[in-house]
Amino acid sequence: MTRPSPITLPDFLGKPRLQHFIDGRWVDSADGQTLPTRNPATGEVLAQLARGGAAEVDTAVAAARRAFEGPWSRFTPAQRQQVMMRFIELFERHFDELTLLESLDMGAPLAKLRAARPTAIQNLLFYASMARQVGGELPSNSLAGGQVTTMILKTPVGVVGGIIPWNGPLFGQMHVVAPTLATGCTAVLKPAEDASLAVLRTAELLVEAGVPAGVINVVTGLGSEAGAALAAHPDVNRIAFTGSNATGREIIKASAVNTKRLQLELGGKSPDIVFADADLDKAVPGVAMGVYNNSGQICFAGTRVFVQRPLVDEFVDRMASYGQTLKVGDPLAADTHLGPLISQRQLDTVLNYVAQGQNEGARLVAGGERLGGDLTQGYFIAPTLFSHVHNDMAIAREEIFGPVASVIPFDSVDEALTLANSTRYGLGSGVWSSNIKTVMKMVHGIQAGTVWVNCYGLVDPAVGFGGIKDSGYGWKGGQAQIDGFLVQKAAYLNWA
Ligand code: NAD
Repeated sequence: MTRPSPITLPDFLGKPRLQHFIDGRWVDSADGQTLPTRNPATGEVLAQLARGGAAEVDTAVAAARRAFEGPWSRFTPAQRQQVMMRFIELFERHFDELTLLESLDMGAPLAKLRAARPTAIQNLLFYASMARQVGGELPSNSLAGGQVTTMILKTPVGVVGGIIPWNGPLFGQMHVVAPTLATGCTAVLKPAEDASLAVLRTAELLVEAGVPAGVINVVTGLGSEAGAALAAHPDVNRIAFTGSNATGREIIKASAVNTKRLQLELGGKSPDIVFADADLDKAVPGVAMGVYNNSGQICFAGTRVFVQRPLVDEFVDRMASYGQTLKVGDPLAADTHLGPLISQRQLDTVLNYVAQGQNEGARLVAGGERLGGDLTQGYFIAPTLFSHVHNDMAIAREEIFGPVASVIPFDSVDEALTLANSTRYGLGSGVWSSNIKTVMKMVHGIQAGTVWVNCYGLVDPAVGFGGIKDSGYGWKGGQAQIDGFLVQKAAYLNWA
């Protein structure tokens, strides 16, 4: 694969192998085991990760507990905010390095990651501002003729286990790291085995920013080993999990050991609905990027594209043409829109769904094949579009997690709503219409955590997002995320 300009690899990758980051130090696994992590654009091994299990999780949780009860507990909210601001400075200073690591590790186009700089900083600034908002309440006094004062105290939940997927760990981890810091919790992170690099490097920067050792720890390794040990650990108070439904169910079971609090941000099969009165110049690119962004590896990808019947043929033509304008290729090249999928396994999953769609009678309009030529060694697939899809086909029911859009026709507003809601999931949704009555009916009627109207995928850090139904529970971002990292206690003070 040819690159337009020479890229200097981050020093971080110069280490012979990467270790766990526990209690502010780099450590190997007790048994010395490692596992490779690959560059999905080339298939080459990028680094060897330490393969942790129950022993390393135990050490990391003990470090997190010591920090929680020790030095970190003496930080005032103002000091926590200060340390977060220093981290934000370092994060900005190292932004090019972090985004390069992320791009090499999980294949997102570097230019897109770098363009997300303002959003990433805004997200961190939001959480830093919340460090000063963590407090209690003094409800109005109605007991014993006003002679009992009631207080509601809010305190950090304790040690948080953050289990992170591979589809955007650099920015995704911040929804665990930043609320942990803002609320005074501590955490053990378990990044995905396919993409751990940015999380490891961030942990080092946090200590450089002045976060005490042990507050944020990282154990790398397999989900079935390190992840499962974290979910089942009796001294972890909360799990913040983002990932698949199958793993989410395992975590629910494992968490029973000590009645852990859970935040589960799971999969989706989000509807994106285009009405005949929509502005197609906006809807076509909006819908297309709602599915194809990050090569479809986004939990709220709007993969079920419902189009009102009179528009279907024109819409399908225009979306297919738009797809052809997207350059799929080297994530490090400045003009690349879409990088590879994360792994051979993910590519196989996506190609199997494409075959299944064809077998079930859907019409493959664009894409659907692994890309060759310069890209043969990586896990690349072109933006894929199916028409003539029914809502009950596997490609319309199951999360594919690849750049595959399915166009499904509908006639009326009521039918659109029924079809959109005929899914076990409830994460994102989109509506494209210029009719306020249609829009309001959909906003109220769609069963999803977010409804985007004439746009798709925007997230305000102060608002956040989350799912309903099988897409999980808990809320990522906003006040609700902070509340999830706190527990409350009531106190009654009789001063009569
Ligand atoms: P995954 O469930 O396979 O893995 C996610 C994380 O869980 C990884 O770190 C993995 O190592 C770990 N894990 C695996 N098995 C485990 C176990 N038994 N116990 C504890 N941890 C375990 O998911 P994935 O394939 O990496 O990510 C894609 C999924 O994540 C998709 O379903 C996507 O929709 C979902 N996702 C959801 C959101 C959201 O906010 N709702 C955001 C991004 C991704």
